[in-house]
Amino acid sequence: MKEIAEILKEKGLKVTPQRLAIYSMLKNTTSHPTAEKIYNTITQCNPSISLATVYKTLDCFVSCGLIKELNITCEYSNYDANTINHQHIMCTCCKRVFDLDTIDDSAIKKAVANKTGFIVNDEQVVFYGICPECQKKNSN
Ligand SMILES: [Zn+2]
Ligand SMILES: [Zn+2]
Repeated sequence: MKEIAEILKEKGLKVTPQRLAIYSMLKNTTSHPTAEKIYNTITQCNPSISLATVYKTLDCFVSCGLIKELNITCEYSNYDANTINHQHIMCTCCKRVFDLDTIDDSAIKKAVANKTGFIVNDEQVVFYGICPECQKKNSN
C-alpha cells in the first residue's frame, strides 16, 4: 500500500498530522464511520483535534475525491475511503453499514444510461435490512 502521506500529496493536499490521522483511520476500516465516530477514535491518540477540524478535513477529502461521503440516512453521513464504486447494505437496527462489493451492477448502469441518455459516472446504491446479529438478538 502506498504511504498515506504520498496519497495526500498526490491529491495536492498539504500533509498535516490531523490529515494523516484521519485518512489512515478511514483507510484501515471498512465500518464507514460517521464524523463523530472518527473524532472519538482519533482523539484517543490525538487529543488536540477538535470535532470542527474533523468535519473540515472530511469535507476537504470529499471534495478532492480522496474519500466518499455516503448519505445513507438523512441524519448524518458515513465516510468511506474505498472510492471504487460499490454498493452498501445498512442494518436499520444497529445502524452499521457494510460493503456489498461482490455485486456487479454494470448492467443496471447501462440500462440507466440507455433510458435517460445520461453519462452515468457515479452511483449510490443502498440496501436496508436487519443484519444476522440483530436477527439473533431480536429472537432471544
Ligand atoms: Zn444490526
Ligand atoms: Zn463502502
